Amino acid sequence: MTSPKTLLKAWNFRPNKLLGQNFLAAPSLAERIVKLSEVSPEDVVLEIGAGLGALTIPLARIAKTVFAVEKDHRLIELLKTEILLNRLSNVKVMEQDILNLNIDDLAPNRTDKLIVAGNLPYNISSQILIKLLFSRDKVSRAIVMLQKELALRIIEPPGSKKYGRISVMLQYGAELKKIMEVKADQFFPKPKVDSVMLSINFKPKPDLPADNEIFLFEVLKAAFGQRRKTLKNALKGSQLHLEPKEILPILEKAGINPLSRAESLDVQEFVRLSNVIKAYTTPIQPKLDY
Ligand code: SAM
Repeated sequence: MTSPKTLLKAWNFRPNKLLGQNFLAAPSLAERIVKLSEVSPEDVVLEIGAGLGALTIPLARIAKTVFAVEKDHRLIELLKTEILLNRLSNVKVMEQDILNLNIDDLAPNRTDKLIVAGNLPYNISSQILIKLLFSRDKVSRAIVMLQKELALRIIEPPGSKKYGRISVMLQYGAELKKIMEVKADQFFPKPKVDSVMLSINFKPKPDLPADNEIFLFEVLKAAFGQRRKTLKNALKGSQLHLEPKEILPILEKAGINPLSRAESLDVQEFVRLSNVIKAYTTPIQPKLDY
């Protein structure tokens, strides 16, 4: 692997901050990340944000196929050249915004699921993770590098200020494991913060399934949208169109103290709450905006 500094100079390329372009600088670290991802020769990998190919190349040396998605048009030729120089023929470079990619299109007839890998662009990491969660009929697991703060928020248990909507959603649909921390100086250009690699094993069947997962997401939006308020008040002021007189019976039916706050509820309590509320509301058009 050529260092990103050298490659960027040779191709006269200026990294774009808005696209979260902080490239992995050390080949040994890229190799280690791929090793820890436990990809095997039968696996079909979807790599998000392939960049200069730091992970693409070691991934392709092991996996059956790698779909390398990259949004920045300027990087596509560079990436293809790097792959060619490494004599790899199992990489399909896709110039695409991951948020617009239909993951089903990658696995039309496949029964085995995809594995996702990537050093994610930091400004859309949460959106990507929610998209993967809702695509988990096609994705078995993801091994991703995230900004440390987001990674720690995701694995945070209830009862803390960091615990939020994304923690509940991912803890609902996946088993999460912190794999390792990576210091900011391992990237070029150097970002302001350190990173954490997380392994996300999607559960096909959550322990207590929500009747409607998108609706659960809406309930979390309402509860955490006003996280300093008690749940009784947060639900009153929410977009869920609940009659004020319905709120106490709903909370009672779900077995939740109306004076508690969103951050104290565990995943199962949120699922119960969502299932009870759903029976009370007129259908709303849920949106997956994060
Ligand atoms: N994988 C490379 C590495 O580890 O060195 C690059 C990682 S860099 C943190 C994130 C990459 O994601 C960049 O190459 C960036 O251009 C790309 N990217 C940003 N937004 C994207 C999007 N919406 N869809 C696909 N790729 C995106």
